Amino acid sequence: MLGRCGGAAENGTRVVDHAARVLRELGVNKVFGITGGSIMGFFDALALEDIEIVMFRHEQGAAHAADAYGRITRRPGVVMATSGPGATNLVTGIANAYFDSSPMMAVTGQVPTTVFGRDAFQETDIVGVTAPITKFNYQIRRPSETGPAIRAAYRLAYEGRPGPTLVDFPRDVQLAPYSCEGGEQAYLPLDFSKYRPPKPDPVAIRKAARLLAVASRPVILVGNGVYWSQAWGEVLQLAELLQAPVVTTLPGKNAVPANHPLVMGPAGMHGRLEADAALANADVVLAVGTRFSDRTVGRFGPELGEKKIIHIDIDPSELGKNVKPAVAIRADARAALRALLRALPAVPRRDTRFLEWLNYIRRRYEEAMEAWARRLRKFAPWKVLRALREVAPPDTITVTGVGSHQMWAEQHWDVLVPGTWVTSAGLGTMGFSVPAALGAKIAAPERPVLCLDGDGSFQMTMNNLALVRDYNLPVTFVIFDNRALMLVKHWQIYLYDRRIVATEYSSRPDFAKIAEAYDIEAVRPSSLNEVRKWADWSIRNNEPIVIIIDIDNEEDLVLPWVKPGEWLTQAVKPPGLEDLDLVYREDWRPPIEAEVRAS
Ligand code: FAD
Repeated sequence: MLGRCGGAAENGTRVVDHAARVLRELGVNKVFGITGGSIMGFFDALALEDIEIVMFRHEQGAAHAADAYGRITRRPGVVMATSGPGATNLVTGIANAYFDSSPMMAVTGQVPTTVFGRDAFQETDIVGVTAPITKFNYQIRRPSETGPAIRAAYRLAYEGRPGPTLVDFPRDVQLAPYSCEGGEQAYLPLDFSKYRPPKPDPVAIRKAARLLAVASRPVILVGNGVYWSQAWGEVLQLAELLQAPVVTTLPGKNAVPANHPLVMGPAGMHGRLEADAALANADVVLAVGTRFSDRTVGRFGPELGEKKIIHIDIDPSELGKNVKPAVAIRADARAALRALLRALPAVPRRDTRFLEWLNYIRRRYEEAMEAWARRLRKFAPWKVLRALREVAPPDTITVTGVGSHQMWAEQHWDVLVPGTWVTSAGLGTMGFSVPAALGAKIAAPERPVLCLDGDGSFQMTMNNLALVRDYNLPVTFVIFDNRALMLVKHWQIYLYDRRIVATEYSSRPDFAKIAEAYDIEAVRPSSLNEVRKWADWSIRNNEPIVIIIDIDNEEDLVLPWVKPGEWLTQAVKPPGLEDLDLVYREDWRPPIEAEVRAS
C-alpha cells in the first residue's frame, strides 16, 4: 500500500478536500488553470485550503506557465482544467513539457463515473489521449486512490528524467465523502521505497576516461540533462582539464555560462559556426544529458559514425536510440561526471591549435555579423539581443517563443547564469512565450523576466497578457515584428524556389493597442539606444512593457543554417564567410602566421 491516510480529522470531508490537503502537504501553494463543471469542486477545495488559483485565459497558457514554473523552481508546476475542451486544451502544453523533460502535473476533471461511455457532456478520454505524452497518467476511480495517485503523479514528474504526469478525477469521486476507514488503497503497482538513481558503471567510466585522455580533439556536448542534474561545475572542470571545447544543444544553453572561454555555444541546424565546427571535427564526443535530436547533429550519417561517442543519460531508452555510443553510461549526469573526473588519468598536453581554430572562426563570424548588421534597412535582431543583454542583469530569466527570434536568441543571447533560459525546444510550440514568461515570473517574482517573442508566436497566446495586471507580473516583453512566419518563409526561400505560401500576414493587430487594452505601456524604439533605454526602464522600475521591434522580413534570414538532412560543415553561412571552411585540417595555422610565412 502506498501513501498514508490523512488522519481521523479527515473523516466526513469530501474527497477533493483530502486531495487539496495532499497537494498542500507536497508543498503546492499555487495552481494554474481554468475552472469548469467537472473541476469546480476541486477548485472549491483548493480555495478552502488556501492554495492560490492563477486564472489563465486559455488552458494551453496555463499549461505553459506550469511548465516554466517547473523549470525555474525544479518542482512540478500544477495545472488544472475541466473535462472535455478544458482537458484537450491542455494537450499541447503537456506535449511541450514532455518533449523538453519538464516537471509538470496536470489534474483534469472528468464526467461522473455513472455516465462513462455515454458521450456525456464534455466527456473525453483524456487518459487515452495523453498516454503517449505523459510519464504517468491515472484515472482515480475510488476515493481511497486519491492520495496515492496524486503523490505518485507529483513525485514521478520530477524523479529521474523529469516530465509531465496527469491525474483524471471524475466528478462523483471528487464529491464523494472521504473516509479513511481501511486506509488508502493504492491500485498502483508502484513502490518508491525501492527507487534509487542509477549509479554509473565503473567499467564504463574507466573506458570513457581512457578514451578522453587519448583523444586528439575531444568535445563536450551539453544537453538539458546537465541543467536538471546541476552538473555545470563538473562539466567546466572536465573541459578545463581536457582543454576541450564545450558545445550545447538549444535547451542545453541553460546549463553552462556562455562567457566561459571554452563554451562555444549551441550546435546544430541553427547553431553557431564555431560550435558546429567543434562538434563536426571532434574525434571523441562526450555527450551529457542529451537525446541527440536531429536538430543538434544535422543528420545521423557516416560522419557521426566515425566519432567515438561517450553518452551519459539517466534514461536508458536514450542510450543507443539515435546514435551508437562507444560507451553508454546510464546515470545522473553529475554522478557520472564526478566519477569520470576521479577516473581520468593524467591528460597529456594537447595541441591547442584546434581551440585556436575555433576561436578564429568565432572572430570571423562576429566580424561578419557586424558588417551584415550595417547593411540592414531595419533592426538587426542579433544587435537588439546584444543591446538587451547589456541592460538585463545576469540572473534575468529569458523566455522565448518559437520562430526566427528564437533562433537569433539561440545564436546570440548569452546565458550567463545556468537556469535562466526557458524555450520550447522539442515540440517547438508557437505561443509558448507569453504564458511561460508569466509562469517564470510567478516562480521568481524577485528576478527580471524578459520575454522574447515573434509577432506570429505572440498572436497565439497574447490573451494571457490579462494576467500581467491581475497578478502584478511585470515582465519585459519584446516582440520581433517581421509580419511573417519567418522560419517557414526562410525554408520557402531556400527550399521551395521562393514560393511564399501562407507565411506573410496581410494585416494584423496593432500590438501597441493590444498592450494598451491590457493596461501595459508599449513602445516602438527607433534605435538600439532606445531599446536599451526602455528595457532598462522596465527592469529597474519593475514595470511591464511591450517593446515592438521592427524587422524586415526579407532580411530576417537566420544564418548560419544547416539545411535539413545535411551535415554540420555544410552550413549556409552569413554573408562574407563564403570562404570559411568548417573542416579542420591538421596543418591549419593562424592566418597571420601563414601570411608571414608566405611573405
Ligand atoms: P532534451 O530533449 O530535454 O533531453 C534531455 C536529455 O537529458 C534526455 O535524454 C534526458 O533523459 C536526459 N536527462 C534528464 N535529466 C538528466 C540527468 N539528471 N542526468 C543525465 N541525463 C538527464 N536544438 C539544437 O541542439 N540545435 C539546433 O540548432 C536546434 N534548432 C531548433 C530549431 C527550432 C525552431 C526549434 C523549435 C528547436 C530547435 N532545437 C535545436 C531543439 C531540438 O528540437 C531539441 O529539443 C533539442 O536538440 C534537444 O536537446 P536535449 O537533448 O539537450 O534536451
